[in-house]
Amino acid sequence: MLVGAGHTHVELLLQGHRFTEAGLQLVVVSPEPAHPYSGMGPGLLGGTYSVADISLPIGDLAARTGARFVQQSVVSHNPQSRTLMLADGSALGYDLVSFNVGSEVPADAGRSAVCPVIPVKPIAGLAAAREVIEAACRAGRGARVAIVGGGPAGVELAGNVAWLLATLGAPAAAAGAESRVDLYASDRPLAGLSGRRQRYVERCLKASGVRVHHGQRVDVAALCGGAAGLLPSPPDLVLLATGIGPPRALDAFGLPCAPDGAILVDRYLRAQGAEHVFAVGDCASFAEEPLDRVGVYAVRMQRVLLRNLLATAAGTPLQPFTATGPYLGGLNLGFGRGILYRGPWTLRGRPAFRAKDWIDRRFVRRYQRPVA
Ligand SMILES: Cc1cc2nc3c(=O)[nH]c(=O)nc-3n(C[C@H](O)[C@H](O)[C@H](O)COP(=O)(O)OP(=O)(O)OC[C@H]3O[C@@H](n4cnc5c(N)ncnc54)[C@H](O)[C@@H]3O)c2cc1C
Repeated sequence: MLVGAGHTHVELLLQGHRFTEAGLQLVVVSPEPAHPYSGMGPGLLGGTYSVADISLPIGDLAARTGARFVQQSVVSHNPQSRTLMLADGSALGYDLVSFNVGSEVPADAGRSAVCPVIPVKPIAGLAAAREVIEAACRAGRGARVAIVGGGPAGVELAGNVAWLLATLGAPAAAAGAESRVDLYASDRPLAGLSGRRQRYVERCLKASGVRVHHGQRVDVAALCGGAAGLLPSPPDLVLLATGIGPPRALDAFGLPCAPDGAILVDRYLRAQGAEHVFAVGDCASFAEEPLDRVGVYAVRMQRVLLRNLLATAAGTPLQPFTATGPYLGGLNLGFGRGILYRGPWTLRGRPAFRAKDWIDRRFVRRYQRPVA
């Protein structure tokens, strides 16, 4: 049973024949028949990609590789009776389960009755955000967009909103323009970067017309209400990029969790104390060492999870997950610019955007093309 179809499970679906050959029935439970790939989410907002470009076709993949697709969310889990409860009130039993249910912006991060507030996750919300901006520009008054959170996601969103506005003919940087993009960052380094990398990101945002407010922890309700000192008038849209955490639903999964609420897993990606339960990606907390919540680690877990599910079913030894080393970080800064970095190495500007675009498109195409 695969619960959620994130970066790890999508590969297991592609290799569904491995389960069939082992005499196992693969079932995937996901609320969405297509999963938008987060690495391309900012580009979806900025207009580089369509929803189809970034979609991992979960339902189709399952059909093509002989897995059963159940379009539902899991709301609770009983590891003793090996039962999942679904949002429609039905139950599913299993022999072996793996959770790859990702992460979310905490619900208490902010809301308002006055203007739309869209969190950066789920990624599908970014398509809705683009529509809000396009509608405001069609109405002829430009769009005022506030982004709360100056981490990598907030920076990518700011650059891409500015690019979208420029494409729509309502650039945030133009003199007298009604459009504006405000990025509210706390006092931590912008995008989590330092030195020359951070200065480059700052320069790109400035050139794009983004107004960066450092050291400002804003209250979303006050921001939407046009509170004095924040914005001259309420924004058309607030994008929330205040950090992601494990889904609250995990509270009802009956499994040992880390202090942040993620499922604690051992070196074999097995939930602690439950040999028939695995967890991967953002929803898992790797007990051996803390890992950043990035898709790269979820992708690196694909091979070990596939092997360990088959090994558990066959009663053969499991393989530890050891690919915890440094990874290639990358930001799409809008206007066809980006930055890629790993260790002391950095690539900036258009070559960085093109390289990130190539890596991301290659990842998605692997799952979009017909199964051989
Ligand atoms: C704007 C943005 C850009 C990013 N760019 C990058 C990048 O370039 N590179 C990078 O490495 N990381 C990037 N990240 C981080 C990355 O998004 C996450 O680390 C990654 O999505 C984690 O993958 P995952 O497989 O754990 O979960 P996800 O990809 O989030 O997938 C989780 C799946 O589980 C499903 N699900 C959720 N709850 C349930 C439930 N109760 N029942 C059933 N199914 C459920 C969801 O519908 C979804 O399909 C970015 C994040 C953001 C917000």
